[in-house]
Parts: sequence; structure tokens; C-alpha cells
Amino acid sequence: MHNGQVSNDKTVAPAGATPPAPWGLGDGQAIPWEYAPAPESRDIVRVREHYGLFIDGRERDSSDGATFTSVDPATEQPLATISKATVADVNRAVAAAKKAQRKVWGEMPGRERAKYLFRIARIMQERARELAVLETLDTGKPIKESRDVDIPLASAHFWYYAGWADKLEYAFPGRVAKPLGVAAQIIPWNFPLLMLSWKIAPALAAGNTVVLKPASTTPLSALLFAEICQQADLPPGVVNIIPGPGDIGMALVRHPDIAKVAFTGSTEIGKKIQRAVAGTDKVLTLELGGKAANIVFEDAALDQAVEGIVNGIYFNQGEVCCAGSRLLVQESVADEIVERLKNRLATLRVGDPMDKNTDVGAINNKAQLDKITELVASGVAEGAELYQPACDLPERGWFFRPTLFTGVAQSHRIAKEEIFGPVLSVLTFRTPDEAIEKANNTAYGLSAGIWTEKASKVFAMVSAMKAGVVWANTFNRFDPTSPFGGYKESGFGREGGMHGLHAYVRLEDR
Ligand code: NDP
Repeated sequence: MHNGQVSNDKTVAPAGATPPAPWGLGDGQAIPWEYAPAPESRDIVRVREHYGLFIDGRERDSSDGATFTSVDPATEQPLATISKATVADVNRAVAAAKKAQRKVWGEMPGRERAKYLFRIARIMQERARELAVLETLDTGKPIKESRDVDIPLASAHFWYYAGWADKLEYAFPGRVAKPLGVAAQIIPWNFPLLMLSWKIAPALAAGNTVVLKPASTTPLSALLFAEICQQADLPPGVVNIIPGPGDIGMALVRHPDIAKVAFTGSTEIGKKIQRAVAGTDKVLTLELGGKAANIVFEDAALDQAVEGIVNGIYFNQGEVCCAGSRLLVQESVADEIVERLKNRLATLRVGDPMDKNTDVGAINNKAQLDKITELVASGVAEGAELYQPACDLPERGWFFRPTLFTGVAQSHRIAKEEIFGPVLSVLTFRTPDEAIEKANNTAYGLSAGIWTEKASKVFAMVSAMKAGVVWANTFNRFDPTSPFGGYKESGFGREGGMHGLHAYVRLEDR
């Protein structure tokens, strides 16, 4: 199913079995039938025992030989060891990228750069199942999401920006678009390959070269992407990938030969990066956290809205910067929506991410699971009412039940802080003005959703919302042609579309 929509298909009960209970089960009851497991094969991808850094077109060990381990969050078992970059490796990677930018990539006609990007896009499609399985093993996200959302969107970004590489003069009419130079790119663990594509595709299309640091818990798809660069015969040094801890990210940001910094991650680290580049001429884009309002009016198609709410917050275990984590529902339909939501939650399947039936997989890392657990406990302590469907969690791995809070006040931590987990806070409103005030009452401003039958209401609300992306009667829709980014503590700059290209060029007069 596309775009993270969570499936609600039903199985037929075996002959002679007790017929399934109707919808409308009481709180906490699970639907009394089960799906047979449908595991995706791990054999589709060869997970190597060890991966090196990717610098100047070659795989190599880190300068001091140090490594770290990436773990499968669903089993807590190690997947592979990875070379851990040092400052010397940062210097080496930036030097390779600088040389490639000046001598090869920046000089290459756009139509030639495009050929490489098209080739990468095609190989990503050819190796899509491999990439999907590896992404699921490393992140804990359901295979149906990596297969149907992450990987197709990742290759779509390369297709899209490949198309722009020889048309920069049309993208910026009357101006000359020059590449910035070497871009430092730091990505998080929630959508590793997709975030890599959001950053690398526009950078390369515009003639820049890159040094990318993946998150330490999810380096594997970036390292498989390095193999794809080799397979596509990309000139050495155009793409460099250096897994390593946060301070290696900071060393990269501070490197004097970096012209552009693109970061996606927490607001806290975003602020540190902003401080580090202040006073330099480095160009910066920050894509940070969010606490999106998903607003449901009484005239909305309620069943459709319920699916959108579920997709908005339980897609990717809620580990989504633009997740619809605050549900604002008009008071007249609040009870009905909450009841339908509870019934729907009881049908979500939580468990093995490699099972094609799974709706909610594993939380990416233990620290994140602890953070979710702590914030949920704060919700209970502050007086909100907790609902979790009864469902068995696997004995091993980092799992969290889909969670819903009612009776939430705006002052509660669960209404203010980014939880980054499968936790929905339900608030109510009476008038559109009250909905706008509550929706904008946040330090963030990344995304929002509106559910109503009336287009006039959509337009009025959209203009009043302080959010970079507002979805109407849908949620979590992404497209390479559409810009994405935030206001306030959600960051600045846009990725995707022509705006995303703009972030990687310097415009000069003809
Ligand atoms: P971080 O912001 O710490 O991590 C994002 C990336 O930044 C990772 O590659 C990380 O490396 C790197 N990094 C960490 N410290 C530094 C530093 N000092 N300088 C440069 N780069 C650095 O996010 P966390 O993984 O710690 O998650 C914490 C919270 O952030 C989550 O609970 C969630 O609320 C939010 N978050 C938001 C995301 C978004 O998409 N907006 C994505 C991820 C998290 P390393 O992995 O090695 O630490």
C-alpha cells in the first residue's frame, strides 16, 4: 500500500472457526484472528560482515582502524561492523571531494552529469528489493514501508534531479547557476536512504560534490549506495560516505573547504551546527523536528480521516519529523473519532519488521525507546488518559505499542515535545480560530493536516498555519517535485523541487 497507508485488509476465518467479532470491540480487545507470517527473505541482500568508509571512489579502513557495530533493532543482533571515521578521514574525504569538484564534476556539462544520475536512479530501481531489505534490517521499519515508500521515493529523487542537471538555465531564468563546491551532509536514522537521496541528488545535479555522514545506527544503506556509485562508474570523489559519531559530523561541518552544510536531525544538534557555521560564508539548510497538528473538522469524511490519522502518526513507528503527533478534533465529533481510532489501533500488527503483514515495526535504537517510554510516563503523570491496544510484543527487540492519549492539555509535555514514536495526543477545539491558535501554539512549524469537506475552509486554514507543508484530506504525501521544510525550530531552507536545487547553487548575473 502506498505512502505509508497502513493496511486494514482482513483475512477469511478458516472453516469451522469461530466467526470474528464485529468491529466496535471494547477498549483494549484485539481482533481475534491472526495472519500467517509472511516474512520477506533476508537472502535478497548479502549483508557483509564488514563495511569500510567510501572515500575517493574506494572502500577503505579508517585511519586508526577503529570500527563500530550496527545492530538489528528487531532482534538486537549485530548486523555488521563498520569503519569509524576519524578527523584524518574527514580531511581525506573533503580533499577528494574538492579535487573531484574542481577537476571533474564541476567542469562536466550538465547533460553528462545527468547520465550518471539517471544511471544511479536505474540501478536503485534494479536493486530496490536488496535496498529495502537492508533498510528494514538496519532501521526496524516494516518491509512494506521500505519497499513501497522509502526506496521508490529515493530513486524518484535521482530521476527528478537528473532531469534538471542540463536545464539549470531554465530553472533560474536570466541567471547563471554555479555550484557551491563541496557539501557536508549529515542525515538521521529514520529514513536513511531517502534522506541521502534528498541531499545527494540535487547537490550532484547542480555540480557539487559531497561528503555524507550517515547516522551511526543506520549506516548500511548508505554503504550499499556507495557500491551503486561504483557500479554507475561515478568519478572518484564525487560522493564520499564516512560513517562515524556526532563529533565527526561536527568536524565535517567545521572543515574550511566545506561550502554548504545540509543537516536533518534533532533541533538540538541543528542549533549546534548553526552556531558552528555562524560567521562563515557556508550555506546552511536545517531540517529539524516537528510537532504537527492534524486537524479534523466535523464535516470531514471520518473514516478517511481515521486512516489519515493512523498513517500520520503510526507510519514508521511515528519516527517521522513531520508526523501528525497532535490530533486536533472538533468537539462535536471527538468521541466518535476516538472510538473509531481505538478500534483501528486494535487491528494494527506490531512485530517483525521483515513480515509483510507488519504495520508497526521496531523502534530504531534503545535510547529512542527509552525517550518514548519516559515521555509516555510523563503523559500519565500529568493526567492524560492512556490507551494502548492489547497486543503481544516480541520478546526481543525494541518495540512500543501504538499509543493514544486523550484528555491532553496544551501544557502537557506530550503535547509540546517531539516524542518521535507511535504516540498520538488528542486535543479538541470548537471553532476554526481555536484550531489555528492551538495548531500554531508550538515551537515547531514543519507540517500540518486538515480534514474537511470544504475547500474554502482548507484555503482559510492553510493561510493561517505556520507550517512548511500542509496536507488537506491526506497526510505524509511526498513527491520529489514538491519542496519540504519548516519554520521556527523546525529549521530553514527547503529540500525537494526547484527550491531543493536552489539550495545547492550560487546565482550570478549573466
Ligand atoms: P541527532 O540530531 O543527534 O542525529 C542526527 C544526525 O546528526 C546523526 O547523523 C548524528 O550522528 C549526527 N550528529 C550527532 N551529534 C552531532 C554533532 N554534534 N554535530 C554534527 N552531527 C551530529 O538525533 P538523535 O539520533 O540523537 O535523535 C534525537 C532526537 O532527535 C529524536 O528523539 C527526535 O526527536 C529527533 N530527530 C529528528 C529527526 C528528524 O528527521 N527531524 C531525525 C532523527 C532524530 P550519530 O548518529 O553518530 O549520533
